Amino acid sequence: MANLNWSYEGENGPEQWSKLYPIANGDKQSPIDIKTKEVKHDASLKPISVTYNPATAKEIVNVSHNFHVNFEDKDNQSVLKGGPFAGSFRLRQFHFHWGTADDQGSEHTVDGVKYSAELHIVHWNSEKYSSFSEAAEKPDGLAIIGVFIKVGQPNSVLQKVIDALSSIKTKGKKAPFANFDPSLLLPQSSDYWSYHGSLTHPPLHESVTWIIYREPISASSEQVEYHKMGTGKWNQFS
Ligand SMILES: [Zn+2]
Repeated sequence: MANLNWSYEGENGPEQWSKLYPIANGDKQSPIDIKTKEVKHDASLKPISVTYNPATAKEIVNVSHNFHVNFEDKDNQSVLKGGPFAGSFRLRQFHFHWGTADDQGSEHTVDGVKYSAELHIVHWNSEKYSSFSEAAEKPDGLAIIGVFIKVGQPNSVLQKVIDALSSIKTKGKKAPFANFDPSLLLPQSSDYWSYHGSLTHPPLHESVTWIIYREPISASSEQVEYHKMGTGKWNQFS
């Protein structure tokens, strides 16, 4: 999904995305503010079930302003099921969104409150579609788990990801990233909010069923500081 016509800064920054991508003005655009008083309980929603095979972890890639941890995309060894979904969705990659200070960084907000960072674990509908890129354009194509990160106790699982960043300091650089189970990054409580929305970056397809965990996970201030994505600090890497 490489696209060179947009950026997070300057003349092609987010405020211009609606010109480059008319769907940016669509009514299913993400992220959103989750207003907890307006959320409705849906008894038809099942618990979320994730089964990730750590052996499917493949590589960590500097994609400029951010990094992705990619997984083998061959068969359904690592899947998300349950929730609002009838079938299974295959794990594709995860990444984070960070801010310029500890009190901001998450894309979604809860009653107007921002968290320090947000983890996105991206899955695609491999039962219905033949590739991630095909699924990414379809209304029922993608399922993304969102997990808020707040500053607190150090996070030993996250530290493994941070340790790998030193080997991908320049744009396009890749390094092997093996034996990792991203379900270890999920909070203890499995309570979640779900809504139908979009990718939060171009091409902004309205193809995402979001699963946002209510309980945040923690990371130390140093961990958040270390890889503030989308900030001047990360730009020095790219
Ligand atoms: Zn994201």
